[in-house]
Amino acid sequence: AVPVALVSGLSRAAQIGVLIKGGGALETLAKIRVLVVDKTGTLTHGSARLVSTRILGALGEEEVLRLAASLDQASGHPVARALVEEARRRGLTLAQPQDVTEMPGEGVTGRVDERHVVVGGAGLMRRQGLCFEPAGGAGGLAAAAATVLVAVDGAPAAILDFADPLRTDGGSTLVRLRACGIARVVLATGDRRDVAQALGAGLPIDSVAADLDPAAKTEIVAAEQRFGPVMMVGDGVNDAPALAAADLGVALGARGAAAAAEAADVVLLVDSLAPLPAAIRIARRARAIAL
Ligand code: ADP
Ligand code: MG
Repeated sequence: AVPVALVSGLSRAAQIGVLIKGGGALETLAKIRVLVVDKTGTLTHGSARLVSTRILGALGEEEVLRLAASLDQASGHPVARALVEEARRRGLTLAQPQDVTEMPGEGVTGRVDERHVVVGGAGLMRRQGLCFEPAGGAGGLAAAAATVLVAVDGAPAAILDFADPLRTDGGSTLVRLRACGIARVVLATGDRRDVAQALGAGLPIDSVAADLDPAAKTEIVAAEQRFGPVMMVGDGVNDAPALAAADLGVALGARGAAAAAEAADVVLLVDSLAPLPAAIRIARRARAIAL
């Protein structure tokens, strides 16, 4: 039987929007020393807005956006949703994509109106043998950004820059987590290194790991376990393996992927990281009473 103190801890956590899947997870939450945190959709809102489009080929802006957004209808990625919204705002009529393959956290390939379209990050483009000039350029890159590359019929077509603001309480939550016993914080993202480093520079973060596919995120979690029990926080399908591998997986449930919530031991029912420090305190108190 689960001790009464743990049951009441679970219910107190639920009251602040933290769903903990059982007494074991509550006990683990009390012992966490390392936080591995995802970027897009977790530290940032993931509700990105398209701020600039750089056209690289012969296709015009509207046509590239229409093709990319048509394909990204097949993806649940936060930046993909933002791209589809932007296309709709511009009144573009989207087509049904065919032969769609999604690589979680990397992007999507498929056919739109008999054209072969690839939408995603730099890693996916490299593997497709597509060479994009280094994005960001001389103008530098905003810290809170996400860049989506678009290729059509085997040639680079556009670089889409999205603004993806940091959650207003993101930095202060990390500070509060450090104050309650989290000794080490690592940012683990599928996004580009320069974007990740610019974001991490303004935050109390010890290490930044970028350009990670889902397997590489899992390796980061495993490597961090030498510092103590690891809590991984993420929102996406691409975070699910790392959430399962961590001592404690925490998913953003409000707008995150269902696969992440399933793989996690803890689901945040509110669209915010803010209740995590209080949840740790609840877990510690419950464990102290139960022991
Ligand atoms: P994080 O790990 O920080 O949450 P992701 O790995 O989810 O970041 O995404 C990183 C980058 O991958 C995005 O900024 C974007 O360039 C690209 N990306 C991934 N999936 C898609 C998609 N479906 N459509 C467009 N871009 C994508
Ligand atoms: Mg994410």
